Amino acid sequence: YSVKRRDAPQPQAKGEKTPISDTSYVGIDAILEQMRRKAMKQGFEFNVMVVGQSGLGKSTLMNTLFKSKVSRKSVQPNVEERIPKTVEIKSVSHDVEEKGVRMKLTVIDTPGFGDQINNENCWQPIMKFINDQYEAYLQEEININRKKRIPDTRVHCCIYFIPPTGHCLRPLDVEFMRHLSKVVNIVPVIAKADTLTLEERDSFKKTIREELRANGIDVYPQKEFDEDAEDRMINDKIREMIPFAVVGSDQEYQVNGKRILGRKTKWGTIEGNIHEL
Ligand code: GDP
Repeated sequence: YSVKRRDAPQPQAKGEKTPISDTSYVGIDAILEQMRRKAMKQGFEFNVMVVGQSGLGKSTLMNTLFKSKVSRKSVQPNVEERIPKTVEIKSVSHDVEEKGVRMKLTVIDTPGFGDQINNENCWQPIMKFINDQYEAYLQEEININRKKRIPDTRVHCCIYFIPPTGHCLRPLDVEFMRHLSKVVNIVPVIAKADTLTLEERDSFKKTIREELRANGIDVYPQKEFDEDAEDRMINDKIREMIPFAVVGSDQEYQVNGKRILGRKTKWGTIEGNIHEL
């Protein structure tokens, strides 16, 4: 039988593709369009956590990545209050939109991490926070009167800032990543990479990769993300670049007629970016 609708498409010339956006079209390939439309309407949620000692450029990098003020400045007026006595966990949410795709971005900051004299176990409150979000989500999921859309506060990604010492990881870095890599996707980055020369950066990256391996730290992208040969190839490329070297800036400059977010120094202007190699 034939499906007849008031708004049925007019007969088309041979070889012309049926527009799948037309609601009257019936076919399996229309599913893709339906899913796309639904996803666009709902938008996406992305929760990113930033961890590292104060002053490593966490707030600046978040503002660079999303090209707007998505993170508060870490410096507070009162010296006494600048470094909290314990690790705090603060979330700030924003609605960001790019080319019609909406995203609810939440930046989870962890002021106080690694800032004490004794930093032993300062990963614990962060681990607890992450696990609590899984628990809350699970409870909502198993609820009989399940919400149509469960609010997702789970941490999708944790960016860990390594100080640009050029030497090796500190015990604090190893401890944090060793524990947290079991519960969250860790993306290690070398903070303020503009302070290292290219050779220093390359050898620092190599040292960090070896240390991660030696300590059994499995960072993003983990092996289970390699679902097929193509995934593996893409992920292997990323693995070679880890840890990313990053430069953050929220100042705009004009360079060769192009407006960029960069750091103007006595020696030139460096573009704020994630440097691959
Ligand atoms: P947070 O405490 O980790 O959030 O650090 P901030 O983002 O407040 O940055 C601390 C200081 O470092 C500020 O003066 C920034 O301008 C500077 N800074 C941020 N990112 C970079 C970077 O990539 N390179 C350099 N050289 N300085 C940076």
